[in-house]
Amino acid sequence: MSQEWKQYQEENKERFLHEMMDLLRIPSVSARDEHKDDMKKCAEAVRLALINSGCDKAQVMETGGHPVVYGEKFVDASKPTVLVYGHYDVQPVEPLEEWKTPPFEPTIIDDKVFARGSADDKGQFYMHIKALETMVKTDSMSTNIKFIIEGEEEVGSPNLGKFVAEQKDLLKADVILISDSSLLSMENPSLDTGVRGLSYIEVEVTAAARDLHSGTYGGAVANPIVVLSKMIAACHDENNHVTIPGFYDDVDVVSDEERALINKAPFDEKEYKDEIGIKALHGEKGYSTYERTGTRPTLELNGIWGGYTGQGSKTVLPAKATAKISARLVPSQNSEKMTELLLDYFEKAAPDYVTVKAFEHHGGEPYVTPIDSKGYQAASKALETTFGKMPLPVRGGGSIPICNTLEKELGIKIIFMGFGLDNDGLHSPNEKYNIENYYKGIETIPYFHKFFAE
Ligand SMILES: [Zn+2]
Repeated sequence: MSQEWKQYQEENKERFLHEMMDLLRIPSVSARDEHKDDMKKCAEAVRLALINSGCDKAQVMETGGHPVVYGEKFVDASKPTVLVYGHYDVQPVEPLEEWKTPPFEPTIIDDKVFARGSADDKGQFYMHIKALETMVKTDSMSTNIKFIIEGEEEVGSPNLGKFVAEQKDLLKADVILISDSSLLSMENPSLDTGVRGLSYIEVEVTAAARDLHSGTYGGAVANPIVVLSKMIAACHDENNHVTIPGFYDDVDVVSDEERALINKAPFDEKEYKDEIGIKALHGEKGYSTYERTGTRPTLELNGIWGGYTGQGSKTVLPAKATAKISARLVPSQNSEKMTELLLDYFEKAAPDYVTVKAFEHHGGEPYVTPIDSKGYQAASKALETTFGKMPLPVRGGGSIPICNTLEKELGIKIIFMGFGLDNDGLHSPNEKYNIENYYKGIETIPYFHKFFAE
């Protein structure tokens, strides 16, 4: 069987690549209203790809927001069913001037495909579509497969929970498989055992009714940029520990065994620093880099603005300053509770000579999957088969907001089998996906189905 898979994939690899690149040409930015039609176009392209690759049926299904694409290949009721989740929406591309190639004109440089969505997540969910094609064309399906490819992951999946709750029968499966995460490296394969949750708020500080002349009023009126900056600076202490009361209240203690396992993953500090251009590691005292990004909650500033930021100088005392602030959450923190905590904190932390408006953006719950489950074992065996090395379990730092809901509504476990790399530049300019990783994913996925069915 494996020989036939390999041969089929070898014969079709150019087409597999170009089909994926065609999908990257559609600017499916879910956050932007002007891309509403592109979202529809992209959903339809995914539906077609599912049908053309062997699904018995595939349809674009409406939600309160961007549509969901559903597809299925039914083989035999006695076989288990794998539900593949992915997302066809992408992050906005700004800052555009930092892209070396246009974000929606996929360009191959050094065996990497540069384009927005190449790794997150079009290139990754498309591996599952080509793995399906491989198994269908070689008549070697060992499971039934369902696909749910949504269009709102990057904006927090606001409508997917309702969709899943309403479509429980349609989505009935034995395990959920997601490729929307990274490997430690090609030499050190890994499987994520969880994702962090997210709380996201925006804080606006207003000091005056309008922008003022900095000569006439400066020194006599509070500057909202200074006020906001002070509030933000006070959120971390000298050990980079978050100072907001209650921030760590619900954090599960990670066992010494798991900490040891996490720290067993090879970490090249110099390479890590060089890759992203930092002078030194920086983070919460007492934890390693992998612990900081996997098992600890964090508070981040995503954006801050106010006053004059155009060309040249303008002497202005701004009326307002605004910041976007997010927290990554770990088990057993709760997104809603954290959002309330943050909103309350920033409203109360402001001095009484300014007005603060704080409101929430999307959030999501943290999720952890057990490594002794049938699904994890199948994924581990699949990677071991194609990489020749047993993958290490690691905690992912990112968030997939719908995980908790999927498990709760469908009553099944999620397996994270991502093939990206941390340096893929997700959400950044010059996002890329290595062609080698794309092919490796297509090669590995059929083994997951095989081992899961055994
Ligand atoms: Zn993603």
